[in-house]
Amino acid sequence: MRVRQYSISSSPLWNSRHVSLTFSVFERPSLSIYDSPPPLLGVGSNYLANLLPGDRVLMAVRHCKSNPSTYAFRLPEDASTPVVMFCAGSGIAPMRGFIQERAAQRASGCEVGKMILFFGCRAPELDFLYAETDIREWVRLGLLDVRSAFSRKPQESEGCVYVQHRVWHDRADVVAAYKNGASFFTCGSSAVAKGVKATLLEIIKEAENCDDTEAATRLKTIKYATEIFE
Ligand SMILES: Cc1cc2nc3c(=O)[nH]c(=O)nc-3n(C[C@H](O)[C@H](O)[C@H](O)COP(=O)(O)OP(=O)(O)OC[C@H]3O[C@@H](n4cnc5c(N)ncnc54)[C@H](O)[C@@H]3O)c2cc1C
Repeated sequence: MRVRQYSISSSPLWNSRHVSLTFSVFERPSLSIYDSPPPLLGVGSNYLANLLPGDRVLMAVRHCKSNPSTYAFRLPEDASTPVVMFCAGSGIAPMRGFIQERAAQRASGCEVGKMILFFGCRAPELDFLYAETDIREWVRLGLLDVRSAFSRKPQESEGCVYVQHRVWHDRADVVAAYKNGASFFTCGSSAVAKGVKATLLEIIKEAENCDDTEAATRLKTIKYATEIFE
């Protein structure tokens, strides 16, 4: 059976002996040609969703150092570096760990850089993960600035449908963060990563008055890491 990977969505500074996961339960209409086939239930996510307290799970923690493609996906060592995060749905998982880490650093008196979270979901009351708990608290503390895109309620997110639309809408803040030496992160499906990358290229073209090729070259110089789920 294929291994399913899940990003750790907590920080060791929150609890060095626990990790949390944040996952979407995969359920889609089947593509079968037969009449009324049962829905396709994802093996790993439905297994996790049906676990009960006390169940034992066969799993391994994989350190990002063992995988060069994910090694870059970590907070900058200097806690005062600004961070800009782009994600949708359960793509918030590693971002939550990042923000939790900075919250703990700040609580211990360390100066931490500004964090902006661009987050896409369907509607605030449907699937805006952690909105009423962690995110509310981090915003209240002035640690986090949240820019949302609600695909079913764009009227509540400045007319933005998907996260990349919000990135474009708020591009002045993205450019300002870049000029302040920010690190950028994208996490989620390949569609999210593709949309955000295309938007970042458009932002660079506009800000630097350059063409596609030059924008692509400049994007490579930015501290930008991605974690793609599929
Ligand atoms: C580095 C990394 C980190 C990740 N972190 C997270 C995370 O933090 N949170 C999270 O939620 N996920 C995460 N994922 C995704 C996760 O690993 C799983 O892929 C996801 O949970 C789905 O797995 P599943 O076993 O439930 O579904 P599966 O049993 O694997 O079924 C899904 C697959 O079914 C196929 N399929 C899709 N639609 C249909 C259809 N209509 N008919 C037939 N077949 C279809 C597709 O091939 C699809 O990939 C991560 C992935 C990677 C690579």
